[in-house]
Amino acid sequence: MTKNKNYSCNVSDIFICARCGYCCHGETTVSLDEDDQQRMADKLGMTNEEVKKNFWRVTGSIVQMKTIDGHCIFYSEESGCTVHEGRPWRCGQWPLHPSILSDENNLATIRESCPGINKTISYQEFCEILGRLIKDRNKMVF
Ligand code: SF4
Ligand code: SF4
Repeated sequence: MTKNKNYSCNVSDIFICARCGYCCHGETTVSLDEDDQQRMADKLGMTNEEVKKNFWRVTGSIVQMKTIDGHCIFYSEESGCTVHEGRPWRCGQWPLHPSILSDENNLATIRESCPGINKTISYQEFCEILGRLIKDRNKMVF
C-alpha cells in the first residue's frame, strides 16, 4: 500500500462515468433482487406485476430487465439510464466491484471495458480509495 497520501476518497478519484453506455448493452442484464424489484416499481409508479409485464424477463427465480436492440430496455442513447434512481444495486455498484480488491486482473479487465475508470493511478492507490469507499457504502452510490 502506498503510504503518506491523504486521499480525499471521492468516487471521482477513481471513476467518472463517461456515459458510453457499454455496461447497459448486451443480450442479458444484471438480475434484480426483491429490494431492487420494489424500488424499481416504486420509481416507475407501477405495481410489481405491471413492471414485470412491461420491463422484466423472468426465468425461474431469476428476474432481469428485458433487452431491446441489444441493450437494457431502460437505456436511452440520449439520456442514458431512464430509471436511474430505481436501477438495480448491481448497476449502481458497477464498475467499482469489490473483487477488484482481491485481484489486480479484475481491475485490468474492468478497465478495458469501462472508459470511466481512472487509468492514471496505480493498483495500490486504486484499492486504497476503493477500500475506504466500500467501508462507507453511501459513497458507493454514484
Ligand atoms: S462502461 Fe463505464 S463509463 Fe461507460 S456507461 Fe458504463 S460505467 Fe459509465
Ligand atoms: S437499469 Fe439503467 S444502469 Fe442498469 S443496465 Fe439498465 S439502463 Fe443500464
